[in-house]
Amino acid sequence: LPYSDYIRSRIRTVPDWPLPGVQFRDITPLLQDKKTFRVLVDIFVHRYMDQQLDLVAGVDARGFILGAVIAYELNLGFVPVRKKGKLPFTTIAEEYELEYGSATVELHADACQPGQRVLLIDDLVATGGTMIAAAKLLQRIGAEVVEAAAIVDLPELGGSKLVREQGIKLFTVCD
Ligand code: IMP
Repeated sequence: LPYSDYIRSRIRTVPDWPLPGVQFRDITPLLQDKKTFRVLVDIFVHRYMDQQLDLVAGVDARGFILGAVIAYELNLGFVPVRKKGKLPFTTIAEEYELEYGSATVELHADACQPGQRVLLIDDLVATGGTMIAAAKLLQRIGAEVVEAAAIVDLPELGGSKLVREQGIKLFTVCD
């Protein structure tokens, strides 16, 4: 992708955050710069504009920023995949393993209708656990996850491979 170097140039790596040894990819400079923000959103908008999508789902919390803007530009609705305990209505949940312990993502049971074509958005794929759990939630209520998409892939962690092994199409802008 011609734009991947440009996008990558506005992603900051913060050493030892939130824990020692973690190299955290911070996308806030990318969002802050009006030019990179627009280029980024347009990459997704152009990729999905002719895909006959019905809905965009975004993962808590940085997936909301990107997902909502993409949904608006594609003239689609937006649904949130949230961390445990945040959604007020009837929810379904998927628990997944982290390096230490586990995490849970939730979705409203009426977030989409069976057969709806949904684009799933998050900011980054690390171990892939979050994206896989989010896709499972959508599939459990009958959605067709047309593609999962993120800004950044950390391929050395193997997550993008795992996502694809689950039969989920995955698009990332850069690694
Ligand atoms: P995974 O489930 O291990 O693939 O982790 C991906 C999730 O954790 C996404 O929702 C990301 O927002 C978050 N995450 C993990 N590592 C980073 C990072 O380095 N920068 C930003 N978000 C991260």
